[in-house]
Amino acid sequence: MLKFTPILIALLYGFVLWWFSAWRLRHELDAKSTELADARLKALTDRMAGALDLPRIRVNIYEIDQVNGLASPDGRIFITRGFYEQYRQGRVSAEELASVIAHELGHVALGHARRRMIDFSGQNALRTALIMILGRIIPGIGQMIAGVLTSMVAARLSRSDEYEADAYATALLMKSGIGTGPQKSLFGKLEELTRSRASGQPAWLLSHPKTDQRIKAIETNEAKWSG
Ligand SMILES: [Zn+2]
Repeated sequence: MLKFTPILIALLYGFVLWWFSAWRLRHELDAKSTELADARLKALTDRMAGALDLPRIRVNIYEIDQVNGLASPDGRIFITRGFYEQYRQGRVSAEELASVIAHELGHVALGHARRRMIDFSGQNALRTALIMILGRIIPGIGQMIAGVLTSMVAARLSRSDEYEADAYATALLMKSGIGTGPQKSLFGKLEELTRSRASGQPAWLLSHPKTDQRIKAIETNEAKWSG
């Protein structure tokens, strides 16, 4: 029993951390978001809703300046104010923004959004347990190794999620007649946008795999599904 105590403590710690961060995220999103109301975008999300047999797709604006899209663990879709502003100023088209919404819908439909919160607590529990175990075997660097191992697992998981969400978006954009053009053109635009801004890469690109690899994957799916 005593042998397993560190692992039990780590799991408990992971659970508490998960519960707290889920609560904090929900609170933050509720306090800082409103429903997106834009006629051109609504026409596009209504077409996607039709393709999915849904009455409508609700999209929220998250009031931060970053250029990003996100899916919350409870299944809501958010576009940041920063991203919406790019659309309002004509730098990003309605169809391109719709492709981001399709991508985030993919994260919800495929269960990524919910699993990520679980992953997050799982990672913390794993890291804590590894630190306790490795730290005892190899004092000093044991802790470092534990950190590296856990983030390697996490990066692996999120990369495959991105490709899956892209594939979902490709299928949905094709089915609703919007096509994959905007999904691909957005990647190039986002890289360009950031070159003209001092703030560096947008978070949406940072947390995602390489642009050219994503475009290639989209084209492979497109060829497979349109044959
Ligand atoms: Zn994503």
